[in-house]
Amino acid sequence: MNSIKDMLGLSIIENLEIQSNREYLIAQKPFFDSEFNSWLLKYGFEQATVEQVFRDDFYALFVQAELDENFYSSMYHQALDWYHAGLTHNRSMLILSYCRQVFILLAEKKDNPVLAKGLCHTVDLVQSVVNSVFQLHETLDNMKKKSELEVVRMKRSFQLIAAELPKELVQAFIDHQNWKIRTFSAALGDIEEGEFSFSTSECQLGKWLNSGGINAIPEKEIENFNLAHEKVHKLGFMALKEAKEQHPERIIDFLVEMENASDTVCHVLLERIEEEFIKAASMDTLTGLANRCAFESQLKQNIAFSKRHGFWLGLIIIDIDYFKSLNDSKGHAYGDQALKEVAQVLAEAIRTEDYVYRWGGEEFAVLTIDKDSSGIEVLAERIRACVAEQIFCSTTGSEINLTISLGSGAFHPRLDKTPNEIFALVDEQLYLAKENGRNRVNSLTLEAD
Ligand code: GH3
Ligand code: MG
Ligand code: MG
Repeated sequence: MNSIKDMLGLSIIENLEIQSNREYLIAQKPFFDSEFNSWLLKYGFEQATVEQVFRDDFYALFVQAELDENFYSSMYHQALDWYHAGLTHNRSMLILSYCRQVFILLAEKKDNPVLAKGLCHTVDLVQSVVNSVFQLHETLDNMKKKSELEVVRMKRSFQLIAAELPKELVQAFIDHQNWKIRTFSAALGDIEEGEFSFSTSECQLGKWLNSGGINAIPEKEIENFNLAHEKVHKLGFMALKEAKEQHPERIIDFLVEMENASDTVCHVLLERIEEEFIKAASMDTLTGLANRCAFESQLKQNIAFSKRHGFWLGLIIIDIDYFKSLNDSKGHAYGDQALKEVAQVLAEAIRTEDYVYRWGGEEFAVLTIDKDSSGIEVLAERIRACVAEQIFCSTTGSEINLTISLGSGAFHPRLDKTPNEIFALVDEQLYLAKENGRNRVNSLTLEAD
């Protein structure tokens, strides 16, 4: 395996020197063992003996200068043994540093600096294998913590706004993390039994994508995303296969590449979850309309748009008439049903380019942008008529008619009014509509100052 030799930088001469001294080195095993045993005692490995610290073939492989796949695999498993025995990264490196010293002593006995250099280079390789294994462990640990934290944070955020978690999407994220955790764990020797699916359509992410999730991904990101998803499966599968067959040579490379691809997958998924959160945070759960928070942000946006593009800004505030007495006489659940149905009528009465919000309680608001000022009053009147003509709560077995009062305002684009001022002016109109007998529209048109 060339890459190991390349990585090691073991020259042909160094390699030859180890080979030609092989018999001498093999004969030195008792020296190595005794030196190492006393070092173990000195450094506080009281219970350990050289046989417990090293795999059976450690010394033999080390001095045979056959730096092949078998060597790499054996040293990788040596590192796994130390990791599973609870040795820290530092202690494992310390053991190898001492190996280096003993090998130098062995070469010094022969007064052979080239042999010393060759053996030291070999220790370098083993140290880099040990580094990889412990880094893998650290990455796995961080991955577990990060993904747990991410999921807790998601759940908490949705809970906070009393919205339902986008379960399939979150499950796809968790499943993706678990897939990575499984492959990293396998590379560290914790191999689960059972089949690992290679298919990108059988995982939770695949299921979410196939059930329409793909449509939530922006067009320009889809190709990269699909590629990354496939890569995660392919590389994870290959890493698992190598782990099962105990061929760890390329595992680290596979996992590093898998992590890169996974970054793309996670980025896209987390953005979709955030979108769902923003959607949920701006939606009223009873009626399904946008809520007051969304209204306030859209009002600000509309004011800016109206100024920039010279359009009239329209605001209608709607309040159901005598709603309290409906609640009192028919109960809250009945009132809720009526609210839902009123919301539906409002949503159907407006034009597609307008927005309707549940502002709070039994009050609603409509935002429009128009070329002239006359449309807003017409719209308000149409909404009033739609509600007045509708029969509500027919499914409850107790039908009812409802009316609404509306304040409407058309604001010239060059007016310099704050959102609060605009709202207060229209609210005043609503108050007048109530004063003037309800089931009516009171309007205001405000030209430029
Ligand atoms: P007016 O014609 O003056 O508007 O009379 P009103 O009874 O509608 O006015 P008021 O503001 O006094 O009452 C509003 C009622 O709306 C009070 C409250 O019980 C009811 N309400 C607010 N939010 C909800 C809700 O989510 N569900 C139900 N069922 N009722 C609600
Ligand atoms: Mg009210
Ligand atoms: Mg009311």
